[in-house]
Amino acid sequence: MEENLTLRELQAYIKSTDHNPTLKEHYFYKLIEETGELAEVIRKNRRLEASDTIKGTIEEELYDVLYYVAAIANCYDIDLETCFRLKEEINKVKWRKG
Ligand SMILES: [Mg+2]
Repeated sequence: MEENLTLRELQAYIKSTDHNPTLKEHYFYKLIEETGELAEVIRKNRRLEASDTIKGTIEEELYDVLYYVAAIANCYDIDLETCFRLKEEINKVKWRKG
């Protein structure tokens, strides 16, 4: 894995290590599970700098959520960077950003 990754490269890396479109529902259920874990560590304010391990931290659960978002996108051959750019254009107008 490269030291500096774009969103597109991160998504491609996950695809190279874990890709099975027949598991799209499994990836979705894992995303929901990981979102719940993220809610718990946010509620408990468990940060990496206060711990000697990433286990059980907001940092770990953000990774998990991002991982499954990318895995689901890969099942549909969806490029997240393109999605981000398209939706950001809508949000710029809707929320008067930038
Ligand atoms: Mg987790």
